[in-house]
Amino acid sequence: MAGSDKMGKTENGIKEEPKSKQNVLQSTQTVIHQALGKLGYSDEMFELMKEPLRMMTVRIPVRMDDGSNKIFTGYRAQHNDAVGPTKGGVRFHPNVSETEVKALSIWMSLKAGIVDLPYGGGKGGIVCDPREMSFPEVERLSRGYVRAISQIVGPTKDIPAPDVFTNSQIMAWMMDEYSRMREFDSPGFITGKPLVLGGSHGRESATAKGVTICIREAAKKKGLNVEGARIVIQGFGNAGSFLAKFMFDAGAKVVGISDVYGGLYDPEGLDIDYLLDRRDSFGTVSKLFKDTISNDELLELDCDILVPAAIENQITESNADRIKAGIIVEAANGPTTIEATKMLSDRGVLLVPDVLASAGGVTVSYFEWVQNNQGFYWEEEEVAKKLEKVIVTAFDNVYRVASVRNVDMRLAAYMVGVRKMAEASRFRGWI
Ligand code: NAD
Repeated sequence: MAGSDKMGKTENGIKEEPKSKQNVLQSTQTVIHQALGKLGYSDEMFELMKEPLRMMTVRIPVRMDDGSNKIFTGYRAQHNDAVGPTKGGVRFHPNVSETEVKALSIWMSLKAGIVDLPYGGGKGGIVCDPREMSFPEVERLSRGYVRAISQIVGPTKDIPAPDVFTNSQIMAWMMDEYSRMREFDSPGFITGKPLVLGGSHGRESATAKGVTICIREAAKKKGLNVEGARIVIQGFGNAGSFLAKFMFDAGAKVVGISDVYGGLYDPEGLDIDYLLDRRDSFGTVSKLFKDTISNDELLELDCDILVPAAIENQITESNADRIKAGIIVEAANGPTTIEATKMLSDRGVLLVPDVLASAGGVTVSYFEWVQNNQGFYWEEEEVAKKLEKVIVTAFDNVYRVASVRNVDMRLAAYMVGVRKMAEASRFRGWI
């Protein structure tokens, strides 16, 4: 099975890393290498940045509801803490792998650099399928993970958050476990918490808000009016569903949406409020309809703006030529390969890369952490105003670097993203 894109098992029963995950890490390293080169940094700096500084693998025993014991594998990666504590979500998914967690931690460093937060990147994950587990089992697993990684995390060391298939309830259990271990209330240990436990207004929809701002700014550059524009969104989970709602409310025509099972298409625009009402908590809605299209067809629909908001490696060499959108805004992490990025940019497609477009979540997570540390909480309008300023500034910075240095938006974003981390590493005397 080596090289297969499916999670295979080797002869000794250990899961292999699928090739797509290795590609995602290698592509990230390639662009970091280019970005550091453009900024005049040596290969030694690249050696420092190409992998996380720390990578912890843990085994978590969990008592299942039927009385059996199951051992889960989890990871926590801390990419670079030169700028400040590391920060990044925890993913619960059967396909979580060491390579994926590493790549995601590097992206978090880049995002923090792009939106100028005092953080480095971190990421965690557990190989599990919460869709097949009971609530109490997920709670025991979440608490077990915190106990397993407790030595390397904390409000001034590494601050977790939600990611795929984790939510505010899971953050609440994790915060409670950490606080019990430390014997003091520690809301700043984790972000994405419920409001009553020190969560921030606007956190749940923050990623989609950031994507919405990037769509608006990209549309301005292309002379396109968002009102009436035709938008296709792949993925109807946290990021995709809030985004569909924001776009629908802004008067755009959301002509296509999809989930893991397939897509829905209506050239006149879908009724997003109706679909939001029918979707389940895992972002599934297409199964309720007979007349569906495939995810491959969805990506190639005739539209003005395409937003991949599901998984990685969706736009590749094999379909980039057939993408019709003039603007692509990446809400998902790693949906477009390097080769496809080049093909699209050469064609004049304005591609707003993941590390910029999806940075709204970590930005409001930062606001949540600041509020926890100062014990004073902001109103929703204040969060929205601050987020708007951060994302617009980041978009302008990246767009300017792309124009001035004549590079595509992904390379420009990486240049902005690594600069502060590289400078901080040098001031600390690491390189
Ligand atoms: P989610 O789990 O809430 O939703 C994922 C959606 O994608 C669901 O609708 C699911 O059915 C669909 N999907 C899953 N596999 C698919 C496949 N093979 N083909 C098509 N659709 C598929 O996840 P989310 O939180 O919305 O995250 C989506 C993406 O955005 C991920 O790449 C994530 O890393 C990225 N992201 C999310 C946030 C956030 O705050 N939620 C922040 C930054 C980046």
